[in-house]
Amino acid sequence: MSSHGEFPAQWDKQVDVVVVGFGGAGAAAAITAQNSGATVLILEKAPKGEEGGNTRVAGQGYLNASPKEEAIDYFNALCGPFTVDQDVVRAWADEIGLNNDWLASIGGDPQEHQHPPEGIEFPQFLGSNSTHKFHEGPVVGYSNTWLLFEKAVNERGIEVLYESPAKELIQRNGTGEIVGVRAEQGGKSVYVRANKAVILTCGGFENNQEMIRNYLPGLPYCYTTGSPHNEGDGITMAMEVGADLWHMNNYAGPSMGLKVPEYRTTFSMVALHFSKVLDGGMIVVGPDANRFADEKRKTSHGKVYESGRWGPLMTPCPMYMIFDHKMFTSGPLYDKDPKTGWNTMVDRYDWSDDNSAELDRGWIKKADTFAELAESIGVDASTLESTVGKWNEDSVAGADTDFGRTMMLKPLAEGPFFALELSPSMLNTQGGPRRNGKGQVMRPDGSPLPRLYSAGELGSIYSFLYQGTGNIGECLAFGRISGRNAAAEQPWE
Ligand SMILES: Cc1cc2nc3c(=O)[nH]c(=O)nc-3n(C[C@H](O)[C@H](O)[C@H](O)COP(=O)(O)OP(=O)(O)OC[C@H]3O[C@@H](n4cnc5c(N)ncnc54)[C@H](O)[C@@H]3O)c2cc1C
Repeated sequence: MSSHGEFPAQWDKQVDVVVVGFGGAGAAAAITAQNSGATVLILEKAPKGEEGGNTRVAGQGYLNASPKEEAIDYFNALCGPFTVDQDVVRAWADEIGLNNDWLASIGGDPQEHQHPPEGIEFPQFLGSNSTHKFHEGPVVGYSNTWLLFEKAVNERGIEVLYESPAKELIQRNGTGEIVGVRAEQGGKSVYVRANKAVILTCGGFENNQEMIRNYLPGLPYCYTTGSPHNEGDGITMAMEVGADLWHMNNYAGPSMGLKVPEYRTTFSMVALHFSKVLDGGMIVVGPDANRFADEKRKTSHGKVYESGRWGPLMTPCPMYMIFDHKMFTSGPLYDKDPKTGWNTMVDRYDWSDDNSAELDRGWIKKADTFAELAESIGVDASTLESTVGKWNEDSVAGADTDFGRTMMLKPLAEGPFFALELSPSMLNTQGGPRRNGKGQVMRPDGSPLPRLYSAGELGSIYSFLYQGTGNIGECLAFGRISGRNAAAEQPWE
């Protein structure tokens, strides 16, 4: 059996269960392990105030699917050809319908989303009526569900070490067991012994451009609206000790957002939201200055049905939102409501009401003619002119003859004209170490890696299509499964 990570002469700390990452999955795993009698420590990479990962800035909905057999049907339908082992699906289904009970057990008061039918993403699939979406707090969003998890961890006195990224798993020679973690604090190693087990809950690879290029389908780059701290560390650490990977090509995206060097994560543009309307004319073009899609299309977390199958929305990079003076003056192009997303909730960029500050910063380009605008963004001028001309004719006639867009059917009428570069953006990745129904991380030969568990979006069980609220639902379900099983391990000697 292999070994990995320097076995320390002395451990700096020791507990029964080490949880790596303080988001929703980490909170559920830590609380459950402690309830099962284990001593627990959480290692968190982010500084205090930025903990919580994607869970902190998510829409705050979680799935409580039932009845169980229908939930299994719906889950399997979402997987389509990308099937998931039924022991994992059954373990998920056993727990997912208990999420409300668990939330209540930590002091929460589960509230069902107001419009459940609209929230079922694939109502045509078998078992879709098992979708029941809940949140904590008076309204959806605003970190309400996360704040309950965080409070519950703090009330229980579970120690959290902030700014302490896990760097390596310590694997015992001869047995292959995972017996601790090397973290770093201020560049210095801190060795934490795990008497029973380690649970990886440190999220996906949304901020690791190399992994994005290697694993996400057809994307030269992509940015996130979520936590900037999820860099695929758990994937690297798990691979180093011999884990198998799964679902690396699956992610909740893409959409199109503004990414600027000064800010770590993407800005969502109001005009591109499927249900929001700004006055004035707007189209999106690719590098060839042609439109490529209905800009207002509602996707199912980035997936669209085309040519008889589901697949990711096309995002030919770089893309540009081209718009007219009327839109520029019709209000802020960015929705500042701190309901979801890292920029609105944590970095809190204060977008100007008249978009002038963003023009001054160079995030928005301005020109009197489309030819000048084309030159400023490096696309072919005559193609852009004809693309706009065609859109203007169609929108005045009331029919988008290219892509069937029906919302904001307005011409780009009067200059000056504007351009804003768009990047592919995502909520989260789903890939990571393969897990089994006990929450154990698996080797390529199908055997579990002793004393190593996972939960949450790090190796999520979602393999293809995704039902909104499924990720936090899974964080809670597998957080509990892994927390319980980790605490039930016998201490190693
Ligand atoms: C804008 C937005 C809206 C969303 N809305 C919903 C929704 O309504 N419902 C839903 O189900 N899903 C939603 N999602 C997806 C969902 O938020 C995530 O998939 C889920 O919260 C992931 O939880 P997690 O605990 O696995 O990871 P996270 O919550 O991301 O937590 C991971 C933690 O690990 C830490 N970490 C990273 N590396 C290390 C390391 N080396 N050592 C220690 N710590 C580390 C991170 O700092 C972070 O705190 C949304 C996502 C986004 C971005």
